[in-house]
Amino acid sequence: MVSMAELDWVTYQKTVSKGKAIIFLPIGALEQHGPHMSMNPDVLIPTAISEAVARRLNNAMVAPPIAYGYKSQQQSGGGNHMSGTTSLDGETLMYTVRDIIKELARHGSRKIVMMNGHYENSMFIVEGIDLAIRELRWDGITDMNVMILSYWDFVEDPTIELLYPDGFTGWDLEHGGVLETSLMLHLYPHLVDINKIVDHPPAKFPPYDMFPVNPELTPPSGTLSSAKNASKEKGEILMKVCVEGISLSVKNVFEVDYLKSVTKKNSLTIPIYVPPKNQRKEVEL
Ligand SMILES: [Zn+2]
Repeated sequence: MVSMAELDWVTYQKTVSKGKAIIFLPIGALEQHGPHMSMNPDVLIPTAISEAVARRLNNAMVAPPIAYGYKSQQQSGGGNHMSGTTSLDGETLMYTVRDIIKELARHGSRKIVMMNGHYENSMFIVEGIDLAIRELRWDGITDMNVMILSYWDFVEDPTIELLYPDGFTGWDLEHGGVLETSLMLHLYPHLVDINKIVDHPPAKFPPYDMFPVNPELTPPSGTLSSAKNASKEKGEILMKVCVEGISLSVKNVFEVDYLKSVTKKNSLTIPIYVPPKNQRKEVEL
């Protein structure tokens, strides 16, 4: 794996000019995640996953992450009224994504993976990609391919059953909960203080939003579900599941040789990684 920013420009130019390198662009947020954790898991987690996936590929590098994201929404991130949460307007984010993709294209890159770590970013990333591809077409560049994914979408039912034996309340209520806290305990334990975890029932919201928000609907801790059952072992499993699943998908999309080797007809399949049964037994949760 190569960090794009740490290369000298001549080496970088040689790597990307033929359009074959895959560039990962992690994108997150600076957002409160409860009193027990730092405010940057939405950046650190997708960056760590990007680096781990890039290590498994032949010709891949990771660009510096976009460390700010779209405004925290109450039902998925506690809300943008919380202290510490520092957000961009949608327009700013969308143009940031567009500008970076167009710059990478100018260098010769044609394969980009946008690795999202903050739910609220999703459609602004899509819009930035769409604008970039449209404007590149005006410049005669028609072969740019951008993949966008949110890492939690690679956590499938068998893993969810394993990690949430008491029931799963959904990814939107996972803000500062078991998923992110476990991954942070595995990747950056010094940024988590489990003694400060606030154990509370999952947040309850009406099936609509009001603006301005009623801050009382956000649990005082800022987390939307309890991280009490988080562990570094769960984080290790989540990391493995995400890295395996994303690696397979990126190879499937961008590495033609891999495509030929796994499918006879060159048809696209969507491989999903499921932890083997014997591994599930071994892990002490
Ligand atoms: Zn988060």
